[in-house]
Amino acid sequence: MKRYTCSGCSLLCDDIIVQSDGIFISEVIGACLKGKERFDQVSAKNRITSPMIRKNGELIEVSWDEAMNSIVEIIKKSNKPLLYGFSNVTCEAQEAGMKLARQINGFIDSNASICQGKFLSKAKSLGINFTTITEIINKGDLIILWGANPAETIPRLLNKLLFSRGKFRMTGREIKTLAIIDPVKTASFGVMGVRDLALMVEPNKDIELIRMLKEECCSADSIPSEGVAGIDKSDLKRLLLHLTGAENGVIVLGQGVIQPHSDYNLVEELLDLLQLINERQEKGRISLMLLGGHFNMAGFDHVALSTYGVSGHLEFKGNQLIKTKEGFVSKIENDNFDCSIIVGTDPISHLPHSLSSKIAKKPLILIDNHITATSHIAEVVLPTSITGIENSGLAYRLDQVPIELSKIINPPNNVPSDEELLNQLYSLLKQGGSE
Ligand code: SF4
Repeated sequence: MKRYTCSGCSLLCDDIIVQSDGIFISEVIGACLKGKERFDQVSAKNRITSPMIRKNGELIEVSWDEAMNSIVEIIKKSNKPLLYGFSNVTCEAQEAGMKLARQINGFIDSNASICQGKFLSKAKSLGINFTTITEIINKGDLIILWGANPAETIPRLLNKLLFSRGKFRMTGREIKTLAIIDPVKTASFGVMGVRDLALMVEPNKDIELIRMLKEECCSADSIPSEGVAGIDKSDLKRLLLHLTGAENGVIVLGQGVIQPHSDYNLVEELLDLLQLINERQEKGRISLMLLGGHFNMAGFDHVALSTYGVSGHLEFKGNQLIKTKEGFVSKIENDNFDCSIIVGTDPISHLPHSLSSKIAKKPLILIDNHITATSHIAEVVLPTSITGIENSGLAYRLDQVPIELSKIINPPNNVPSDEELLNQLYSLLKQGGSE
């Protein structure tokens, strides 16, 4: 039995005990249900183990040579390829994807751009701190979940943040206050104790709450007697007291806060509030933690920054990086792409229909290890191994800490890793045809 890191979500728990003879996995100890599902994917019914091409409307298994040549043909006809996904692959595969994008003069972006990436660049420009899991365990006294439900999305996160005893928090849970701001009573409310704050904000009223908190930070006693956004005055006062008095507080931001709004920018307003609180904080500070779900959602920005000097999406023309105001969503909205290469994600299920229908109209190449809604419309599907089980590599945990993932067993049919496959495609396209 050996200890491995789980790649089931962005928490990358490094305490999973696995029994394996190098061919099969016979036992997994310590993983949550989501982590167990990750290990079950090895032999799942919807696993893809051979390349496929769409012929007469149906996906047919073909040889690797035929599939690769078909991709070369699609890309040769393309002037504006769109590469997307890259949150469920290693940093090495992300780097290979960027190299491929440069070679074919494409636009490359990750799932983070419609998720945590919005906060990342803005928070960096404002100088707001991101914190780590270790720091919260050792020094945290206030944890605010805002639009986040880790009990279901990152199942072991609250165990670590809330219940672990730390160097300066020997009493553990007893000294840590949990506040949850959410319009829905999620599973995370289940861990609340009597000292905690359950704040059921009315749907789409987060902005009113943020603006009131900002105002209250500047002029005391401006909270209306009837409360704000469905939260009563005494709870709001307690929230303010915690926000301005915490020694080491963290706001954990989830998908609920990230949804776009046409008439205001919630991300900006929330980060302004944080900056205001930290300016006025005398003894402590509030920092941020972003809840990206995919196991390496944080990695793409690190790789783009270290390789090309910019974080977020990249666009290439003449095999050079160019400045672009476009993002993944605007590229699709404006039909500014003519084929897509999707890596390790399922945009047909995840994106709004207005966007997914546009992606479905152009040739789509899918690199993934299991059948999804996206594989049902793909022209070519290429299988890869499951990272953290069938191949190794680097990933960034949700708190931006790099973690090495190990290989436990060989993949079926010797399918390549995402990194190997993307590098093969790069070499093939550089030569202009079959290797
Ligand atoms: S919380 Fe995430 S990383 Fe940890 S065991 Fe569960 S799925 Fe795996």
